[in-house]
Amino acid sequence: MKLKLLFALLVVQVSFAQHRTCGMQEKMAQIMSNPTQRQAYLDQQHKFQVELEKIASNKDGNSVNSVIRIPVAVHYPSAGAATATIKSCLRSLAQKQVDILNADYNGTNTDISNWAAVSENYPGTNTGSLDVQFVLATQNHPSGTTLVNGDVAVTFGTEFLTGADEDTTWSGYCNLVVRNIGGGTLGYSPLGGSPSAGMTVVIDNNAFGAIMTGSPVSCTGYVPAAPYNKGRTLTHELGHFFNLDHTFADCDGGNCATSGDRVCDTPSCDEPRYDCNAADSPPDPSVSGNPAVTTCGYLQLTMNYMDYVEDSCMYMFTAGQAARMHAWYNVIASQLTTTALGNEEFLQNQFTLFPNPSKGSFTIQFKDMMNSYSVEVFDVTGQTIYESNYDQSANLVQVIDLNHPTRGVYFVNIKSDKGIVTKKLIIE
Ligand SMILES: [Zn+2]
Repeated sequence: MKLKLLFALLVVQVSFAQHRTCGMQEKMAQIMSNPTQRQAYLDQQHKFQVELEKIASNKDGNSVNSVIRIPVAVHYPSAGAATATIKSCLRSLAQKQVDILNADYNGTNTDISNWAAVSENYPGTNTGSLDVQFVLATQNHPSGTTLVNGDVAVTFGTEFLTGADEDTTWSGYCNLVVRNIGGGTLGYSPLGGSPSAGMTVVIDNNAFGAIMTGSPVSCTGYVPAAPYNKGRTLTHELGHFFNLDHTFADCDGGNCATSGDRVCDTPSCDEPRYDCNAADSPPDPSVSGNPAVTTCGYLQLTMNYMDYVEDSCMYMFTAGQAARMHAWYNVIASQLTTTALGNEEFLQNQFTLFPNPSKGSFTIQFKDMMNSYSVEVFDVTGQTIYESNYDQSANLVQVIDLNHPTRGVYFVNIKSDKGIVTKKLIIE
């Protein structure tokens, strides 16, 4: 009997330990206790407000063709003594995680299609994306590292200051540190991070990346553990780096722009959701006492990356969050190194798409000849509305007519032997 009780207690403890815990607030307390860092934080937040107002006052001001490209460096400070095989595996894991980031931040992840079934419960809330390309850096690595041109910016052991969260050797990069954080914390980031200060986003070694295809499917010591095994701890933490607070920051107190999470299209909320079960997700407003209706009186946006739910049931940013992230990017853009990405990654700049927004007929203009390529257009639910292959094309221009599609946000995938690139297309 006693044994059974003990066992029950252990199970309860284990399941609590499995709740998502984020260390952003502790990190911010640390930053605010350092006078220099505090002042730098306040200065950048001031610039942020200016950028946010610019975006708000000029909604079409963000050219959808100006894709943001961010050089990424991944650091495994505890893997200095790892074998060459494991290091190679960890490079693949870094790429896997970067791929997940690109899908989540561009709204091209497949599970965003779940939004269609629940969106009517959230009037005024739309999915949002940053139009960003995260790329593992490959060129002109910082001096003092053993990396050469062509290597991906993935470091092991003492190449990144062990145990520290900042390293100005790597200023100018989006730095991801993967290590055993301990205490059940899955990850942390400053709220509004600064690349010039060499700030980092730290992710626990069992919550980074996802199971890979091919062999090996995971790397010893860095196996993503369910239910945080879809790489979304980083999606969440990097949201903090881009100045997003938790959706459950607080009730909005009547002014959504200055209180709560300061995002007006995320329903006001003051406590996190953890689980992925029927009671919490998706929420059902027709059920009396539904736990997803918060004490602030709103239906909780449990599927948002900035809540605490398990990886498999968070799948979207809102348009308001995307605007905020874009404003933060505008603050830090000049801090990012521009020499770390090789020419082969400039595919994104190899074509432009216009007019955008359009009525459904648009032109793809290539910079260089593409022997063969395919074009796929799909909507936010992932449904393909146009698909065509172009072989041995001698044209630098291709006109595509979608034949009166419904208004909304679409994505255009262009696939060639140089890779795949996705651009957002707005039909109005
Ligand atoms: Zn968080």
